[in-house]
Order: sequence, then structure tokens, then C-alpha cells
Amino acid sequence: MGWQFLSKSRGATNLITRIGTVLSRFGITSRKFARLLNKYCTVTRDLGCVPTFPITAVILKRHPELIKKLSDNGIEFAVHGYIHIDYKTLPLHEQLTHYEKAIDIFETCQVPFTGFRAPFLRTNDETVTALSRLKFAYDSSLAAHWNVIEKAKYSDAAWSEHDRLLEFYQSRSASEVAVLPGFNDGILEIPVTIPDDEVMVDRLGIKDIGEIGKIWKAVLKEVYNRGELFTVQLHPERIAYCEEALAELIKEAKSLNPPVWMATLGEIAAWWQEKERFNFEIEARSKVEYKVHANCSGRATVLIRNCTARAPVEPWLDGYQVISSGDFVLESPVRPVIGLAQDCSPGAVSFLNSEGYITEKSEQPEKFGLYLSNLAQLNEADKKSLSEKIEESGVPLLRYWRWPHKARTALTVTGDIDSITLIDFVLRVYENWCQRRRHFEN
Ligand SMILES: [Zn+2]
Repeated sequence: MGWQFLSKSRGATNLITRIGTVLSRFGITSRKFARLLNKYCTVTRDLGCVPTFPITAVILKRHPELIKKLSDNGIEFAVHGYIHIDYKTLPLHEQLTHYEKAIDIFETCQVPFTGFRAPFLRTNDETVTALSRLKFAYDSSLAAHWNVIEKAKYSDAAWSEHDRLLEFYQSRSASEVAVLPGFNDGILEIPVTIPDDEVMVDRLGIKDIGEIGKIWKAVLKEVYNRGELFTVQLHPERIAYCEEALAELIKEAKSLNPPVWMATLGEIAAWWQEKERFNFEIEARSKVEYKVHANCSGRATVLIRNCTARAPVEPWLDGYQVISSGDFVLESPVRPVIGLAQDCSPGAVSFLNSEGYITEKSEQPEKFGLYLSNLAQLNEADKKSLSEKIEESGVPLLRYWRWPHKARTALTVTGDIDSITLIDFVLRVYENWCQRRRHFEN
């Protein structure tokens, strides 16, 4: 890692502390780190979840047996670059070369994967093109932060470290965007939740584990209120330190009803693809009666609001009821469909459909309880307010929910493996230095 690059991601003063931390985390052999990985797997298994570990391909190549064994035991892995460098600075052809080499290594080592996470969570527009060409199912490199930390509790220096990392990650604020997966060029972008262990432990210097647990639980509360996604990022080297905080969080998540769906990143990507194919067939029997057939898999969550189903329903949240039958008659004063003006953009239609709503383009607003015009353009930042507008509308609605099994929200536990031994760590610094030198020479 070049000096300039390092200073951008963390303060130079932090470097000395960092070296001490590295020495305490990694050993000459893989024994120390293997213990951490095994602990991580035991802790998560006891809590009823399976972690996803994005791992840099050269690290996998150096330690194939250790990783293959975990993979055989059901742990999920993802590609974390060929080497641990800033891919944001690389053009398409170079990124393709790196990811192809990474895929080769994963295949040779017989470690299955479907997804990608960029080192330092840094990508450019070419990254998704490269991943799409190489048929990855998902990318989990976009950070989104929840404002749940009390700034007053921390020194100015610690807080500026916090801000610096958020800026380096190009993190988006959850107050401005919906923290949900979304397709981009066929690749599912699965956001990473901040604050993560790096922000809390390394940047803010939180020593009190109770505080880490409290912050994560505050995030869970917000995520649950909004029915979005919590991607818990906890690096294996901090599992011993954060074990209790993670346990507290998962126990809290498990106590909630409607439930929290716990899944790996790959399972989330598979679900989002499955959900894309769902639709409803609606046939009007009269002006107030509709015959509905839900074309979906058995784990879909079908919701209705402000209308009545002639089938058994259970109360859910936000005034919705959940219905288990795939065929039913709906009594509703209007079609439970959202009307859209003809100029509504394909992006807006696909966003509304991915939110599970039924939409119909029409020139007759009076046919619908809710009719949306002004959607010729829909930016990322408009999506959250659009969903809120629909939810606040109070019209009859029939929809699929974002998550399966009647779950309100989803939670996934993930942590990158960047190094396993001290030698890996030193080589990583060297690889970054080479990459930076090549970048400056070109
Ligand atoms: Zn990493």
C-alpha cells in the first residue's frame, strides 16, 4: 500500500498503532488465523447463521486447504479481488484480467462462489461491467451508513477518522437512500452496513463491547422499521473482540416478530433473482371483486392492505395483512394496482416491480387508487421517497414483500479475509506498492 494511499484511508499517526495491531492478529503460520476463522464459524453456527467471507484470490491460493475445509462445511466464500488493491483506479481490461485470474484460482481450489466484494469497498463504473461479463451474481461493495452513533461521545480526532473512512468508502447515508439490494447491469448490488467493526473498533477506538452491541442494535431497530437489509460487517480478526456484540445483535434479531430473515450474501442474491419472476394475475369479477392468482414460489410473502381477502390472513406490519394462499378473491373498491403515466421510465417500472407492487401504464388515472406521473426519470435518491409516498397513500394495495418467509427484514453476517499470515500481510503491502507504482508510471 503506497504511503499516499494509506494516508488517505487512515491517518498517518494511526499507522504505528496499526502495525502493533497487525502483529497481534497474524502469526508466521496460518494457525493463529485458522483459530479465529474456526471461532467465527462456531459462534455464527451457534447463533443459527452462516457467514460469507470474501477472500482475496492470492490468499486462497496460499492457503487452499484451510479455506476448502470451511467451504466443505457450508461456509460461503466470495471473490475479494485477485490481489488486495484499489480497483477504482483500474480500467476495465485490467479489472477483467484480475477477476479472471481470481476465478481460475477459486475453481482450481474447488471453492464455490457467486459474488464479489471489492477491497476497500472501492469500485468504479467498469467494475459492474467486468462482473457482469464474468457472470457474477452479486457485488457487495457499496457502503451505506446509519446515523446511530452519538458524535459527542468521541474526540474530534476519532470522529475525523470516522468521517475519513466513510468518505474513502464513498458511503451513502441511509437517511437519503433505501438500503436494499438492487440490480445494476444484471449484477445484484448488496449494500454493506456501516458502522462496521472497522469504524467502531479501529477508527472510533471503542473499547467497550457493550457499546458496539448497542450501536448494532440501534442499526437493527432502524433497518427493521424500514424493512431493509442489515449486512453486518465483522472481520475474522476481530471475532474474539466482537463475539459478544454479535451474539447480542443476533439474539435481538431472533426475538422479533415478524421475523428477521438470516441468510448469506449468495442466498440473498438467489432470492432477489427468484423474486424478479413473481407476478400476479388479476381478473375483475365485478367492480369490487377481483380474482387473484399469485405466480410465485412457496416462500414468497404476499401482502394486502386496505382491502379484504376471502381467504385466511394474519396481521403483519404497517397495516398490512399477510396471506398464505396463492389463489383468492379480493374485495376492493379499486383495482389494487398502481397506475403509471405512459412516460414512466423503464427504471422506475423495474424499481416498483422489484418493490413487489403491481403496476399498469394507463392514460386513465381515475381507474386507480394511486396514479403516478412525473416518473420519466428516477434517480437513486428518489427511490426512497417514492416508496414512502406509496406506503403513506392509504390506497388498496396488493404486493409481494421484499423478503421471504413473512420476514420483515434480512440480516447477513460477512467479513473479508485479506491476510492469513504475517507474510500475507507484508506481501499485500508490497502488491499495493507495485500497483501504485504501475499506476503512476502509466
Ligand atoms: Zn479487504
